[in-house]
Amino acid sequence: MRLIPLGGLGEIGKNMLALEYGLHILVIDAGLMFPETEMLGIDIVIPDMSYVLERKDRVLAVIVTHGHEDHIGALPYLLSRLSAPVYATRLTQGLIEVKLRESRVNNVDQQVIVPGDLLSLGPFGLEFFHVSHSIPDGIGLAIQTGAGLIVHSGDFKFDHSPVDGQPTDFGKLAELGRRGVHLLLSDSTNAETPGYTPSEKAITQTFEDVFVRAKGRVIVATFASNISRIQQVIMTAYQNGRRVAVTGRSMSNNVRMAIDLGYLQIPGDSLVSIDEIQQQPHDRVAIVCTGSQGEPTSALVRMARNEYQPISLVSGDTVIVSATPIPGNEELVNRTLNNLFRLGADVYYDELLDVHVSGHASQEELKLMLNMIRPKFFVPIHGEYRHLVLHARLAQEVGIPRENIFLLETGQVLELDRNSARIVDRVSDEYVLVDGLGVGDVGQVVLEDRRLLSRNGFLVVTLAVERGTGRVLSGPEISSRGFVYVRESGELLERARAEVLKAVQDGGSRAALTNQIREALTRFVYNEIRRRPLIVPMVMEV
Ligand SMILES: [Zn+2]
Ligand SMILES: [Zn+2]
Repeated sequence: MRLIPLGGLGEIGKNMLALEYGLHILVIDAGLMFPETEMLGIDIVIPDMSYVLERKDRVLAVIVTHGHEDHIGALPYLLSRLSAPVYATRLTQGLIEVKLRESRVNNVDQQVIVPGDLLSLGPFGLEFFHVSHSIPDGIGLAIQTGAGLIVHSGDFKFDHSPVDGQPTDFGKLAELGRRGVHLLLSDSTNAETPGYTPSEKAITQTFEDVFVRAKGRVIVATFASNISRIQQVIMTAYQNGRRVAVTGRSMSNNVRMAIDLGYLQIPGDSLVSIDEIQQQPHDRVAIVCTGSQGEPTSALVRMARNEYQPISLVSGDTVIVSATPIPGNEELVNRTLNNLFRLGADVYYDELLDVHVSGHASQEELKLMLNMIRPKFFVPIHGEYRHLVLHARLAQEVGIPRENIFLLETGQVLELDRNSARIVDRVSDEYVLVDGLGVGDVGQVVLEDRRLLSRNGFLVVTLAVERGTGRVLSGPEISSRGFVYVRESGELLERARAEVLKAVQDGGSRAALTNQIREALTRFVYNEIRRRPLIVPMVMEV
């Protein structure tokens, strides 16, 4: 039995795990991660799936624990390259469908499962149990294998009063514990947080207070997939005599799907279109949109910059940002908050008011999970390295021997048999960068060029030389972007031209001339003004 984490261990996001037994592979989740600030121009980051893609005939199924982007966001890339049935609960399936449709991936075999279902796939016997999280319909997995029983927690918390009324299935967890669990994989996202994560219900009262006080429109920004939060906004708005418009493509698609499947309750005629809402009095409306992460194209960010046509914010409007920034997004989020304040809006966000609760278990809940499952071996999953270490310490505290805890990072392969476990191998843990329609074609070299370009601009040197001798026939012409303002730097560029001429005076092959120009100009520019632009020599032989 081999456990191959392809993403999500030692990092937050792009969760993906492969379980391999003999010649059979089971894939659990395939998520995305948002790019770091220095990944210029990159839209999203997905796991390196080559281990699975190189063995695609062995893949029995893809199991998806819930509908968050960090668990489903890479599915279009996976499912356009291999065909395997996808098993997920109904809402998760709906969110996957919206995603596949947006990416134009068709003909995927989708199988709906219900918590409590038993499923036999080759050597794996699967059982699904409900877990509460910030999205309805999340599941954890119990997987019977030749090496023993494996439990995967999914993303979970122990919410006793969740918005969808369905707490984590404690009974099932206790029963699994009694059966004897060989290996537990458990969510480490909040391993830094002491105590218990508050219930989703905790923010109902806060929402109510803000809505009661609001004089103008109320705008709530959250994740497009946060169906529970959207439900809370709709209910609070309804109780306060406000109608709700949902804006943004992904959010509208998700809301329509969730209503169709019965996961969103819409009281009366609460829902209106964004166009209709413009005719309503301001104190009778609420708007739900994306933009809680400062995403540049989202409705909230455009509203904050006064570039969102249907709605111009005015003093008296209220904005609730109901999410915490994913690490790396803080700068974008802060810029948006500043813009909202500038427009005179009353803005509420996590630092000011409890308008968001986490969907992940805190330390006491993590210990409870460990204590109920009582696994022989433990692997903390879903978290940056420090989260994994802290979670491992909690496991030791509740009595799991240190040598039975494995701190795996993405790419490290754990092999298990009935009695033992060890790290045996390493597969690629590379980031695969997605830029527009290109998947993986932007690598470190391209990124480094983009960084250089963004920092220092570039210089293009065009030169025509005689084939064979390398004698200069015309040029050099120098043009630049983002380097210096040409009109004020004529003299500098003139001397740069002379420098190029000097560098090529002895002729040579095209490759040799190209190198000489690059070296001479790099040195010249650095000596003159201490800058390092990207230098692009274009030598034409005629
Ligand atoms: Zn999640
Ligand atoms: Zn997650």
